[in-house]
Amino acid sequence: MNFSDLHFPEAPKIVVTPPGPKSKEALAMQSIYESNVVSYSKAIPVAFEEGRGATIMDMDGNVYIDFFGGAGVLNVGHCNPEVLKAVAEQEKKLIHALDFPTRPKLDLIKKLVEIAPGELKGNSKVFFGGPTGSDAVEAAVKLAKFNTGRKGILAFEGAYHGMTSGALTMSSGKKLKESYLPLIPEIHFAPYAYCYRCPFGHDSVEECGLRCAEYVRHILEDPHSGIVDPAAILIEAIQGEGGSIPPPDGYIKELREIATEYAIPLIIDEIQAGLGRTGKMFACEHSDTTPDIMTISKAIGGIGYPLSACICRKDFDKWPPGAHIGTFRGQCVAMAAGFAALNFMERNKLPDHATELGRHMLTRLQKTKEESKYIGDVRGRGLMIGVEFVMDKNTKKPAEDIARDVRKRCYVKGLIVELGGHYSNVVRFLPPLVLTEDLADKGLDIFTNAVRENEKSGS
Ligand code: PMP
Repeated sequence: MNFSDLHFPEAPKIVVTPPGPKSKEALAMQSIYESNVVSYSKAIPVAFEEGRGATIMDMDGNVYIDFFGGAGVLNVGHCNPEVLKAVAEQEKKLIHALDFPTRPKLDLIKKLVEIAPGELKGNSKVFFGGPTGSDAVEAAVKLAKFNTGRKGILAFEGAYHGMTSGALTMSSGKKLKESYLPLIPEIHFAPYAYCYRCPFGHDSVEECGLRCAEYVRHILEDPHSGIVDPAAILIEAIQGEGGSIPPPDGYIKELREIATEYAIPLIIDEIQAGLGRTGKMFACEHSDTTPDIMTISKAIGGIGYPLSACICRKDFDKWPPGAHIGTFRGQCVAMAAGFAALNFMERNKLPDHATELGRHMLTRLQKTKEESKYIGDVRGRGLMIGVEFVMDKNTKKPAEDIARDVRKRCYVKGLIVELGGHYSNVVRFLPPLVLTEDLADKGLDIFTNAVRENEKSGS
């Protein structure tokens, strides 16, 4: 398929310096009626009207290239026509059905079991809870606790799993949770394989012997490590909000081995990295690792319908009917959208496209890094990419202000990017996987210019 047809024909197209008058008016109205807690529209002050593929138009008619993809939701692109067709057909038939079997649910759960990674393929069960990613994390942890009878969870530095009490506690960001603690007890954090800032001070994977994974073995082994036996190890196979961090080869596999050795269920959170984004259907497939329980959300709703699910080993499915429930476990439109999106993804080989285009983008970004004083690291897999800004390449002092300034410069020129990372100093790219090379290059031109202009301005 020619992905070019999916986008606005002209992008970027800036007809009025953003935010234009209509965006300003909408933002003012939002601030009257919606809580101060809103965040994205504070960082990128714009009001959107229409999205197509990897492009999005604001209320003033400006068209942006979307490197954010609704926070990694829009893998098949904004308003993908095939998914819209499936949605329209389903909407005429049935929309809400609790957890009764319906055609879209049967199609989707069968498909999910067929595409599940490793040993889960053809041999797993799907369960639903609430409609958002955090709900899936809560449900996965509940099942692990039910099966093991244990209380603690081992999570990772840099993790983000959501905003519900449990998911928030298992996320690492201090600012996000410190006002609300204690939420749930006995959550412990081990270092993630964030090699650019290795907490063990190693310079390369070649010489570190995956010390961070071995550290997990150590805290499980040592009766005085201070942790209780965990009900689960919960990890993102590639960290998302933590700064788009792909761990080195062998890390996730080693954790799998440790989890098996200590009979701890391994929950892999694929909410952001899953469903084709990193070049495989699931990010854990890069390391040939099968989780015991896997969480998915974001792109599984097709084009932005809220939907989340867990996939678990068949022999883990021990809980009785009603042990985990939720009103929206049968949202037929979201499920029809998800099924259509998976078919689109497979037929158009979107994971392969993500691999190729991701490589192209990383190659270009490496050049930008070399010429920039402030880019300390460029990393990624497929179309999950992070560019980390630092004040100084030797000290690696985080440069959040520079990342922010670059984001703003991109936005006014017609490119939407977001930030993340431990120090909010990582510009993250999560574009729809239907991004074309032409749009990728135009977006990267804007990004590179933004980096240069920032450097010239000294701000
Ligand atoms: N897990 C991961 C890896 C995520 O990236 C996110 C959202 N960014 C969540 C869980 C939480 O999902 P939601 O915001 O839909 O609750």
